[in-house]
Amino acid sequence: MTETTPQTASQAAEAEADGPRDFIRDIIKGDLASGKVSGIVTRFPPEPNGYLHIGHAKSICLNFGVAGEFGGQCNLRFDDTNPAKEEQEFIDAIMEDVRWLGFDWGDNLFHASDYFDTLYGYACHLIENGLAYVDDLNGEEIREYRGTLTEPGRNSPHRDRTPAENLDLFQRMKAGEFNDGERVLRAKIDMAHGNMNMRDPVIYRIVNKPHPRTGDAWKIYPTYDFAHGQSDALEKVTHSLCTLEFEDHRPLYDWLVEHLPVPARPRQYEFSRLNLGYTVLSKRRLTQLVTEGHVSGWDDPRMPTLTGLRRRGIPPETIREFISRLGVTKQDSVVEFSLFEHCVREHLNKAAERRMAVLRPLKVVIENFPEGEVDNLDAIDNPEDPDGGSHTVPFTREIYIEQDDFMEDAPKKFFRLSLGREVRLRYAFFITCTDVIKDDAGNIIELRATYDPETRGGDAPDGRKVKGTLHWVSASHAVKAQVRLYDHLFQEESPGAGGRDYLEDLNPGSLEVIEDAMLEPSLAGWPTGKTLQFERLGYFCADRDGTADTPVFNRTMTLRDSWAKAQKKG
Ligand code: ATP
Ligand code: MG
Repeated sequence: MTETTPQTASQAAEAEADGPRDFIRDIIKGDLASGKVSGIVTRFPPEPNGYLHIGHAKSICLNFGVAGEFGGQCNLRFDDTNPAKEEQEFIDAIMEDVRWLGFDWGDNLFHASDYFDTLYGYACHLIENGLAYVDDLNGEEIREYRGTLTEPGRNSPHRDRTPAENLDLFQRMKAGEFNDGERVLRAKIDMAHGNMNMRDPVIYRIVNKPHPRTGDAWKIYPTYDFAHGQSDALEKVTHSLCTLEFEDHRPLYDWLVEHLPVPARPRQYEFSRLNLGYTVLSKRRLTQLVTEGHVSGWDDPRMPTLTGLRRRGIPPETIREFISRLGVTKQDSVVEFSLFEHCVREHLNKAAERRMAVLRPLKVVIENFPEGEVDNLDAIDNPEDPDGGSHTVPFTREIYIEQDDFMEDAPKKFFRLSLGREVRLRYAFFITCTDVIKDDAGNIIELRATYDPETRGGDAPDGRKVKGTLHWVSASHAVKAQVRLYDHLFQEESPGAGGRDYLEDLNPGSLEVIEDAMLEPSLAGWPTGKTLQFERLGYFCADRDGTADTPVFNRTMTLRDSWAKAQKKG
């Protein structure tokens, strides 16, 4: 066993003491302790063909997390090998989202396209050593020749071309002499291999499309399998962490590293991907939701994308906390959405300021409160934050309460307002409802009430109690707002289960828009993206669609898990 440097050893010991534990971190600790590696390099390798989602957050937290814990480095590497699907918009968004999530790659920003020259050289190296050949079979024929899990494949008729012939053809592929799909370069491994990925995998294909970074320089592009491991090696990545579907690719990953003159020998380790209930996390599906207009865009607050979650008001630390509670294993599973919600609520309960807003206003006229007078009451910003401040809420003769908070003939257990009953208005006074005003159709349009001036601040000096405390907003000070109430985008926990089209499981009630919500005046100009609690209603954040006249608020989350309850009721 090699001696480890004190620095590394102490770092490892520290991580052992209080850091997270999982099989990946155990492997890394072992490799540091045995001297197999002297430092840790990981990478997060997104393909810029879509926006990052909460599943990617698991990979980001793991790769950046272990690099941080073990004093190593994590690279951000764009796996930009398919110009047919990749765009600059996605590259920019991915960087923004990784930073938002709280991670920093420093100077270590790379692109697979940085290595196109080197990778081309590696391909030529394989050809020269008789380990790769240009094939003229088309995609369908290649599939046919590949055999099945139970039958070996057959050699392509072009498999025995000489290195010179192959080099010439490969150069002509590069020069743009052929059309897309006309020829490919394949590694020459074993068409009878038990692992299908080893049956002469395609390593270069022709794509006649300009590339966001290399423009028209290339007509051929390496496949994921060829680019990935070699990029890892070029960056001296020590632990290449990826999801389980790449387990079957590991023999190929190792074969390529072994047969190429790469400067390092990275190793790949696989962990299970994050699947989340009521959500789809496949980029293909998320792209379809956007392009077919099932959502308003990648940042629709119902999307599980990081940009969607941000717009919805989910703080990044709650995503990190959620991911850390899941741990890292090789077990595939679907995580309950309620666990995510729990992490968000736990954080926001402590961190979010409270304000009052009335979503479905019902006017109450307090008849013994002088007309034109304003009583500025003190409201604490956050009861969970002892260091937090307070703000004032104006109380006036006309206020709004929630329509739901009044019932004319209320059952005993209805602890809100009804005719003849007394309730507390939060931070303000006790009021008693004295009259109900209706329109011709019998709809309640206004209430009359009296208040007890002795109860200012919310307590009665004579010690009498009330059962209910309602939120309210002064009618003459109210800021009118649009409020968007979001629910799960899908109404089934596993969208598309049982062979259904997953689009059939879209929740028709996933967005309810309220046009005339009334907010307390301190909410005018509330910063976009800062999440707060509307008392008794849930967590909300201001949306960028708002204007100075009419702010727009998104519901981040309800205060309780109303979905689970609704499901049980059926
Ligand atoms: P999709 O399968 O939806 O197309 P992808 O895996 O191809 O997504 P990439 O951009 O290639 O998307 O992913 C970058 C990294 O994020 C990869 O290492 C991948 O394994 C990881 N990743 C993607 N989805 C998840 C997930 N749901 N859970 C954990 N890691 C994920
Ligand atoms: Mg991928």
